[in-house]
Amino acid sequence: MSAAKLIVGNWKMNGLLSDSQPRVEALKSAASGKFEMVLCPPATLVQACGWWLKGSAVKTGGQDCHAQPSGAFTGNVSAQMLKDIGCAYVIVGHSERRQYHKETSADVAEKAKAAHAAGLVAIICIGETDEERTAGRANDVVSKQLAESVPAGATPENTVIAYEPVWAIGTGKVASTDDIKGIHALIRDKSAVKAKILYGGSVKGSNAAEILHLPNVDGVLVGGASLKAEEFLAIASAA
Ligand code: PEP
Repeated sequence: MSAAKLIVGNWKMNGLLSDSQPRVEALKSAASGKFEMVLCPPATLVQACGWWLKGSAVKTGGQDCHAQPSGAFTGNVSAQMLKDIGCAYVIVGHSERRQYHKETSADVAEKAKAAHAAGLVAIICIGETDEERTAGRANDVVSKQLAESVPAGATPENTVIAYEPVWAIGTGKVASTDDIKGIHALIRDKSAVKAKILYGGSVKGSNAAEILHLPNVDGVLVGGASLKAEEFLAIASAA
């Protein structure tokens, strides 16, 4: 596990060929020994982003993959296909996939396994809902998701864990530094794999430095703010 902070941008379902190139090319200068940057655009843009980023240190990733390498799964994309178009990473188990597509932690583990088999680094997302936190169950929920979502065969080289409290995603609410420290320490302690641990949830330029320098925070997963190149670069430069 390298000491460089990992800065991952998740564009979710945003971006067209016509408006993405300048935003992506602005990131090309972002190579720095202090951080590694990964851009996860929608599947339709991954290949173009790879071309636009050619010659830079910024890598590309998918936002999801199917657990099977190929087959009759209309509308899905496999890990092997992402690898084929130049991806190095894939996000699995994002809370929006768990919520809207009813993905379970067992499903997430299968997807992570497929990512590993294809030679991708799996960014495995876990995190509690507002209701679970209010009920005092955050630690239990995160521990269970961690145990069930990380497959056998995970290593620090092929796996990254992203702690993303669901209530902090896209809401402008950020977990307190004490909460982040507490959960990241728990993940570090409980995880059999000494993988990088990212925080995600309303990270922006103005709060990135504080979060990135907390103990056991090895980087950030950024949604909304990664759509603005200047803001995303400000987050990275806080590493
Ligand atoms: C995310 O989508 O993973 C995320 C953290 O979103 P945001 O930064 O917009 O909260």
